[in-house]
Amino acid sequence: MITEYRLAKSGKLLIEILPDKCDFCGCCVGVCPEDAIELKEAEIFIIGPRCTNCAKCVWSCPIEVIKFNKDGVPVSKGQGL
Ligand code: SF4
Ligand code: SF4
Repeated sequence: MITEYRLAKSGKLLIEILPDKCDFCGCCVGVCPEDAIELKEAEIFIIGPRCTNCAKCVWSCPIEVIKFNKDGVPVSKGQGL
């Protein structure tokens, strides 16, 4: 699984997906009003530039693997989005 964290529209991306815990149910994708989560076969991405930190995805995840980043520190890794 690959997770990508990028700066959000609001300046800081506070949402993170815990690696290796997601079961790819798609609930978070369906609730995101900004179309900021992409789910591919065994990969899930948050597209930071679209994310507004609204937290709807956090509340939607049935197994609680999307969290607020406690430090509020944007993490950037990966490439291409
Ligand atoms: S916090 Fe809101 S905008 Fe960002 S990925 Fe989750 S549902 Fe989408
Ligand atoms: S709602 Fe949770 S388990 Fe389902 S795809 Fe999103 S992060 Fe993964």
